[in-house]
Formats: sequence, C-alpha cells, structure tokens
Amino acid sequence: MLNISFESKLPQTEKSIFSKMSAIANEYKAINLSQGFPNFDPDFTLIELVHKYMKAGKNQYAPMAGTPELLQAIKLKIKAHRGLEIHEDQLCITAGATQAIYTAISAVVKPGDEVICIDPAYDSYKPAIITNGGQPISYGLEAPSFKIDWDKFEALMNAKTKLLILNNPHNPLGICYSKEDLTRLGQLAEKYDCLVISDEVYEHLVFDDQKHISALEIPSLKDRSFVTYSFGKTFHITGWKMGYCIASPLLMEEFKKIHQFTVFSVNTPAQLAIAEYLGMNSWKTLPAFFQQKRDLLMQYLDQSPFQVKASAGTYFQLVDYSAISQQVDTEFAMELIKSIGVATIPVSVFYDQAPKQQLLRICFAKTDELLHQAGERMISLNN
Ligand code: PMP
Ligand code: GLN
Repeated sequence: MLNISFESKLPQTEKSIFSKMSAIANEYKAINLSQGFPNFDPDFTLIELVHKYMKAGKNQYAPMAGTPELLQAIKLKIKAHRGLEIHEDQLCITAGATQAIYTAISAVVKPGDEVICIDPAYDSYKPAIITNGGQPISYGLEAPSFKIDWDKFEALMNAKTKLLILNNPHNPLGICYSKEDLTRLGQLAEKYDCLVISDEVYEHLVFDDQKHISALEIPSLKDRSFVTYSFGKTFHITGWKMGYCIASPLLMEEFKKIHQFTVFSVNTPAQLAIAEYLGMNSWKTLPAFFQQKRDLLMQYLDQSPFQVKASAGTYFQLVDYSAISQQVDTEFAMELIKSIGVATIPVSVFYDQAPKQQLLRICFAKTDELLHQAGERMISLNN
C-alpha cells in the first residue's frame, strides 16, 4: 500500500450512469437506448471535409478561441437561425459542451459559492461545481408537469448564490422552456446579481413546429449567461467532442483564461470541416429528422403498457412504467435489459433526492430499424 495522504475531491463519484448502462447493454447484447448517442453515421460529406483539411496540412494548433472560419460560420448560423448578431469576442470553440460547462464553472465559481441546479440535472454539472469548491443546491422537479415553481426556486437563493444552471431543451425531461420561464430566470439572476449557464446542446432538436428560445434572446439573460452548444448533438458526431460557448465579452474573457490553460485549442481539421458544413445549412433539417424518429417510437409506446407524453425536445423520451411494475427505477431498468433486452436510463440518477416516480429515459437517436425492433419488444410487455 502506498503511504500517501490524499483526500478525494469527489469521494462519492462513480463511473457515469451512461457508461455503466452502455456496458451492461453490451454484456447482455441488449438494444442500447440508454446513453445518448446516434447509432448511425454522420453525413459522409462532413467526414470527407475532415479528410480534405487533414490532407491540406491543417494539422497543427488552431488559434486558442477557434479558427476564424468556424467563428465566422457560427456567427452566420446564429444570424440565420435567430436573427442575432454575435461578435467574435463572445465565442470560444470547446472540446464538447461538457468542457464548455466545466470551463464556465471554473471561471466563476469560488469556494463557498452556491450554484442552483435543476434536478433532474445532467451528470457533469455538480462534480464540476464541487471540484471548484462550490456548493450545488438542487431544485427538484416532479412528475407529471415538471413545472418550475419560481417562488420555490427563489427560496433557495441568497447572497451566496453565484450561478444558476438551466438545460433547455431539457435532458432527460424533453421539455422546452417558455419565454416566461426564461424571463423569470433572468429576473432572479438580476435580483440576486448572479450568473447563468444555459446549456442548449439540443437547440435544434425541437418538435411540433416549436421554436427553441435561447438565453441569448432574453435581455436580462444575454449578458450574464454562458450559453453552451454541442456539434456532437447537432451533426451526429458525439465522438468528435466539439462544441462552443457564447458569452458577453466580459464573461468570455474570464472563460478564455481557463480555456487556454486547460485545453488551449480544439481539433483544427474538425473545426475547418464543421465551418464549411455549417455553411451548407446542414442544421435546418434536424427537427424534422428527429421528429420522425420520436413519432416512430411513440407509435410503439402508445401500444405498450408504458404511459407517455411525447417529448417536445432533445432526442430523449420519458416513459412511466407504473402500470407494469412497482420496482424502483434502477431495478426496473435492469429487469428490462434481462426480460426484453432493451437498455434505458433510470431517471432517479439525475436527482440528489429523487421523488417517488417510476420513470425511464429512452434515447431515440437510433436507426428506424432499431427503433422498430425495440418497439416490438416494448409492446411484448403487454403479454
Ligand atoms: N449537456 C447535456 C444536457 C447533455 O445531454 C450532454 C450530452 N451530450 C452534454 C451537455 C455534453 O455534450 P458534449 O458531448 O458535447 O460534451
Ligand atoms: N449526454 C449523453 C446522455 O445524456 C451522454 C454523454 C456521456 O456519456 N457522458 O446520455
């Protein structure tokens, strides 16, 4: 045994639920609808573009905040998508949204600061807060409406509150927040003079002709928010770990101070390829593409004993299994892998203190063929 006196910064942290469930799915040869990644390839054009730039010698460090080509392409995309003008000093390309979120937290959270997270919360938020000496404070949402009661939310705020984190569209709930919700968040951020991370990685995955509202579009939020995005989610390239952050120049300056000493810069040929691909308006077809998959899954779920309300955004669908089993969700998720060979994510893992609810998360970023197979298996639960 090594004689080292050492205290873990994250003593409670285990392997992520996503890695765990994917490993179990592989072990049981189950259909993996757990971890959120597509089981299909990105557009071959995008792959060829990376090759093109690699062969053209674009293989060395990119500028710290990103290549001029990608920064420009993002500015043009935001102008086309939202009609907003973003300036170069508001942007930084990151190694995925997870890094952007961690960097934003590191840039502003000091020991003793409180950060409010909305549970169910994406798994990277709280460890990032704790590692930086902050104290995560959970505000828990409950089935069936999962509505935010802003008075109860405000009751958690005080002079120590430094940061609020919102994920919109919401993983795993599949909710898109309204202008009223975002305005309320902005009012509270102003009142308590705190900052916001608006995690918008699923901005293009919104259904039924809704429009996703960004924190960038809310006057009280736009200057006090770090807004994070992921090309992994947008272009079916989760393994490339490419994303970006937008913030007001003052916040972005602090963000870059951390970014330059943790990552410095991000994959050059991938940045150049994504820049060119963004110029092809490749993001415009995403809502229809994923809505077809959601609808296909819903056709099966409607015939199954699961109770469901169609997801409004993200590529996740929540299902209530209370008509099938009274087991807790972690046990039921295991049961489902063994009985019908379908892997899902138990929703309680996204909570500090999970309410009594029987919910699983299903990822529908899968080929139609796989969704048909999984759907048939879920219908078989009627027998
Ligand atoms: N936020 C949310 C809500 C997510 O679901 C994910 C998972 N992709 C991320 C952030 C991280 O994105 P990335 O893979 O680009 O790090
Ligand atoms: N964002 C993905 C999900 O929610 C997983 C990312 C990861 O495995 N870290 O399933």
